[in-house]
Amino acid sequence: MVFYEKFDIIVIGAGHAGTEAASASSRMGQKTLLLTQNINTIGVLSCNPAIGGLGKSQLVKEIDAMGGLMARVIDYSGIQFRVLNSKKGPAVRSTRAQADRILYQKKMQYFLKNQNNLTILEREVSNLIIKNNQVYGVLTCNGDSFKSSVVILTTGTFLNGKMYIGSDISSGGRRNDSSSSILAKNLKNFSFRIGRLKTGTPPRLSLKTINLDILEKQWGDTPTPVFSFLGCVSQHPIQVPCYITYTNLNTHKIIKNNLSSGPLYNGSITGVGPRYCPSIEDKIVRFPDKNRHQIFLEPEGINSNVIYPNGISTSLPFSIQKKMILSIKGLEKTHIIYPGYAVEYDYFDPRDLNMTLESKVIKNLFLAGQINGTTGYEEAAAQGLIAGINSSLLIQNKEFWFPKRNQAYIGVLIDDLCNKGTSEPYRMFTSRAEYRLLLRENNADERLTEIAYNFGLISQKHWKIFSKKKYSIKKEYYRLKSIIIKPKFINDFFKKKNINIRLKKTCTAFDFLRISNISYDILMDFLNFYIPNNSILTDKTVIEEIETKSKYYGYIQRQKDEVKKCICNENTCLSIINDYKCVTGLSNEVIIKLNKYRPNSIGQASRISGITPVAISILLIFLKKMKY
Ligand code: FAD
Repeated sequence: MVFYEKFDIIVIGAGHAGTEAASASSRMGQKTLLLTQNINTIGVLSCNPAIGGLGKSQLVKEIDAMGGLMARVIDYSGIQFRVLNSKKGPAVRSTRAQADRILYQKKMQYFLKNQNNLTILEREVSNLIIKNNQVYGVLTCNGDSFKSSVVILTTGTFLNGKMYIGSDISSGGRRNDSSSSILAKNLKNFSFRIGRLKTGTPPRLSLKTINLDILEKQWGDTPTPVFSFLGCVSQHPIQVPCYITYTNLNTHKIIKNNLSSGPLYNGSITGVGPRYCPSIEDKIVRFPDKNRHQIFLEPEGINSNVIYPNGISTSLPFSIQKKMILSIKGLEKTHIIYPGYAVEYDYFDPRDLNMTLESKVIKNLFLAGQINGTTGYEEAAAQGLIAGINSSLLIQNKEFWFPKRNQAYIGVLIDDLCNKGTSEPYRMFTSRAEYRLLLRENNADERLTEIAYNFGLISQKHWKIFSKKKYSIKKEYYRLKSIIIKPKFINDFFKKKNINIRLKKTCTAFDFLRISNISYDILMDFLNFYIPNNSILTDKTVIEEIETKSKYYGYIQRQKDEVKKCICNENTCLSIINDYKCVTGLSNEVIIKLNKYRPNSIGQASRISGITPVAISILLIFLKKMKY
């Protein structure tokens, strides 16, 4: 057996988890080896060519705040940028960008190829080298062996991957990529808890054969948003529109009549699919009263003839997919370039992981991405970052780190996975975060960049720009708090401008900004007149943060207080309770769950699904009565 030089860290797989993991560990100075089945597929967007969206953009911006790649790559490859929920509060506002898939891949590969401490080789890993329940390296299908102190496994949908189009079943991790079956077989020799999940993708359509003239057109937002903290609009390529169409009753009839020919409804697929990204078959069955379902026709690139019809993922037979497409407005003459399909794959129960994403089964082995039961590029990338950081900290003999639920969406993701586990593909939503006003996409830098700097994850340039922004926000915050505004002056000023504002009490400029229709610009207009040499900020991101901090001041404070309360109770011990039946007031469901999972602390109990805040209050009162 030939052993090459020893690496600190080996990352298996170069999808979204693997690329962020390898980038993070090499940025932290670890000698890293990234092994992947096919070098050309590094950074492939397996399904929809888009990054971000509700709950997901927050993950992307957090990865970016820690120096990760995803946001930077999409800034160079995004062909349509929008802010979803822009009319709602800042807690749920989420950026989304459609990608030119080729540009995305190229830019990801460019960043990785230019990363110090990182070696990338095209190899399929066949097994892990394990002694006394600790990993020491990997073996590859072509007979190579590589030693390392840590291994990070990020094999996505590839372990035992099986693809389905009607009754046509083939082995594969995704279209044109073979499944990782040897590694899957060998991993079964260890005591991991392994299950099956599935996901699916729609057929791809030929742009030239779509009747765009009769469809609704949708452009991105103006001004065009940017993803990365260091990004700018000039990095974006040409922007293009999407088109919108709908399924109809005829489409639904075609699908209903052919359900039994698809693997989802004839029992071929047993793995559970993503609840919030269902196939069109599932939508028709689950929502029988709906007359139509929306489809976004998204270009896969600037120079591409391929259209991704977002909303109709399917694994029905090809012949039925063709009928289904031809029944849709604007697609009456459309060619399918290649059919939609479903993929079923092995996933590992994430409850077998520590919150650092290190396996509890095998020491020094970390798992990240879809292998842990998640779905989505962003969820995978976030886990890759955490696995990369903690494997480096392990090698550096330093204390592990993972964000808490009140610190980052990444913290919510990891806490949910490791404590609650998942029986269906897990995707992030803003509703999963109880402190979402503290976890805005626009303050990801404030929450995480200093930590990243201390780990050595970000460049000096990044640190300098961040420090300058932080200083500007702080300075302006205190300045506005120190300016006292008298009602008479302000009321007269706005009366002259025909703006209906009646201030009753003296307040600070910061408090005045809390009034809903007062923007920073309006406040500055007044301050220019009210105080000599008034200074005005020009940085839009700083202004936005000042406005959010003042407008949501009360809510933000309330969430901070809740966090404090939770921290106080987090470690309150539950071990004195032997049987939860003796706690009066708990529902049967809660008693069964608490007796089953036996949480050590109030914190752990609160994270079990179905354990409500009311149940937590009852437990706290019970413990108080017991004088514990
Ligand atoms: P992947 O991106 O799958 O990357 C895995 C990497 O591991 C690949 O580079 C592979 O070559 C490599 N690899 C595997 N085995 C080995 C080995 N033995 N040795 C070396 N390298 C190996 N997400 C959504 O959010 N919504 C959707 O609707 C959706 N639909 C999907 C439909 C399909 C058909 C597929 C395939 C995926 C879909 N996804 C969807 C999921 C999305 O693609 C994944 O969440 C994301 O790609 C996971 O990233 P990852 O890094 O965990 O794994």
